[in-house]
Amino acid sequence: MGKETRVIYWFRTDLRLHDSPALKAALDLQPTAFWPVWTWDPHYVYRARVGVNRWQFLIDSLNDVSTSITKLNKKSKLFLLREAPQTLYPKLFKAWKVTHLVFEKDTDAYARDRDAAVIKAAKEAGVEVIVKSGRTLWDSDELVKKNGGNATMTITQVQTAGPKVGPVPRPIPAPKSIPDPGELELHFEQEQPTSKPDFNSGPRRHDDKSYENISGPNGDFAVPSLEELGMQPATTKHRGGESLALKALSKIIADKKYTATFEKPKTAPTDFEPQATTLLSPHLHFGSLSIREFYWQVQDTIASYKGKSSEPPVSLLGQLYFRDMYFGAQAAGGWYYAQTINNPHCRFIPFSLPAKIDPDTKLITGEFQSTDSQAEEWFVRWKYGLTGFPWIDALMRQLRLEGWIHHLGRHAVACFLTRGGCFIHWERGAEVFEEWLIDHEVASNVGNWQWLSCTAFYSMYYRMYSPIAFGQKWDPEGKFVRNFVPELKDLDRKYIYEPWKAPKSDLKKAGVSFLTTDQILDQVNRFKEGLSNPTAEDSKQYPRPIFDFPERRAFCLDAMKKAYHINLYGNDPKVLDGSWKEL
Ligand code: FAD
Repeated sequence: MGKETRVIYWFRTDLRLHDSPALKAALDLQPTAFWPVWTWDPHYVYRARVGVNRWQFLIDSLNDVSTSITKLNKKSKLFLLREAPQTLYPKLFKAWKVTHLVFEKDTDAYARDRDAAVIKAAKEAGVEVIVKSGRTLWDSDELVKKNGGNATMTITQVQTAGPKVGPVPRPIPAPKSIPDPGELELHFEQEQPTSKPDFNSGPRRHDDKSYENISGPNGDFAVPSLEELGMQPATTKHRGGESLALKALSKIIADKKYTATFEKPKTAPTDFEPQATTLLSPHLHFGSLSIREFYWQVQDTIASYKGKSSEPPVSLLGQLYFRDMYFGAQAAGGWYYAQTINNPHCRFIPFSLPAKIDPDTKLITGEFQSTDSQAEEWFVRWKYGLTGFPWIDALMRQLRLEGWIHHLGRHAVACFLTRGGCFIHWERGAEVFEEWLIDHEVASNVGNWQWLSCTAFYSMYYRMYSPIAFGQKWDPEGKFVRNFVPELKDLDRKYIYEPWKAPKSDLKKAGVSFLTTDQILDQVNRFKEGLSNPTAEDSKQYPRPIFDFPERRAFCLDAMKKAYHINLYGNDPKVLDGSWKEL
């Protein structure tokens, strides 16, 4: 008998069997033992902000890939191991006599550090590591190299540098068979659970031993349910998994005209049943859909389309280039990419930074310890959809309930929180998106928040969205608002975006009254405790607007103009004496 090839395939950003260059590389080794593995990384479980809807999407995706593996080999499935990969793998390499570890490349800052530790452990154990790119159209590090070693800050740079890396590879078919796993004993496993994990009691640390044993409570390496994790049921209607992703893609591609002529700015942010764009982002995030599969199906549709097709940046391919652009910027920036401080691409803009609470100590942290209680109140009211601007509130409630909002909706709420209203720091907004989005991707979330706040990528700060006219343009009847802010569902269309302007008779007819400040805070607390948005039956009370928008617009324009001048000219005396406005 020749030398055994005992391979762990580590699923991470690639919860699929179709078009997976890393999975193909693993199977090409012709393993004599093959373990498809998912590690329940405590960083994700305890440290990252992950709301219940993203948990559900992840669990769906894990279950689906596991079922697909079992369909190819009854003895196999996705083996879920509950320990940090950095400490788990050194033990696993020995126990399972592993010869190879294979995974898809991940360029997120935390992932790079984690993978470096695992690769080091593999080297020490004599295990060969194979890493393949497959998460983006082009390997993000290669893209940066071909962009002169610089972060990709425009899609033109992506369109120029990408082809220099090479053509986007054609998708690889899903495997037709999966080898048997080897033995599954965990000889090193001594820690038995002392108590059921309490995921609601706040983040834990890597060395916390109180969670279930490594192969799960029944020792069968099963994917947990939300219930087992002690979580509330998800509220989103959007579900995960490769099977659903491929079905959704087929449906989109079947509509040739939609696919070939897609123009992002012409898609309505107020469409919600169904939405106007593809809603494939959460699948791309979890890798239940391959970006290259998506790219080539769109490309082939365009090639066979008889009419005039759309072009980047507004076309579907343009959207995928934006994704690669943010991944390239992150690959170049590392840990600094996700913050303003020490990030050479970010302009400093003196946004208010409401206090940040350390999840472990519950103490206020950060360089800026806010004493700005107004910013604090505005931030919380923005987060929970109680700003008194129905368009903004409807979007934030859709986000909390469903975990996804249209790109232009994200524009509206991000601009409103930062340079177009509240003048609050983009990092606080990005944290809320991190918690609630089902498609949360560090690269895209951070990059887009920098864009919208005019901190990086984009600089036309004087183009500001109105929290009234923007939604009204797309949906004059206010169907979207009526659905997500049911307190206002019977209000006349004339006032649906500005209820504070409604005459008493209209308010009375619609049964709407305004909340007092105390009642608003009660409402915030109610939202904090549970996930439910109010129903029209609960109450028809709604807040007055947090501020006068034209006043804030003038304030923000002035502050942005000043910040830009300081960024350009430093503390030029003209900036300081006030004559900077004429510069
Ligand atoms: P489509 O319009 O159908 O586009 C197809 C795909 O292209 C998307 O699935 C997505 O993967 C990619 N894409 C499209 N637009 C962008 C973009 N501007 N940046 C990056 N990728 C893009 N997208 C995320 O995937 N994760 C995030 O965490 C995220 N946070 C955002 C935060 C803000 C403040 C803003 C303004 C945008 C954010 N986006 C994020 C980008 C974009 O809004 C979503 O990708 C898009 O709305 C997803 O819906 P879709 O799949 O229907 O997109």
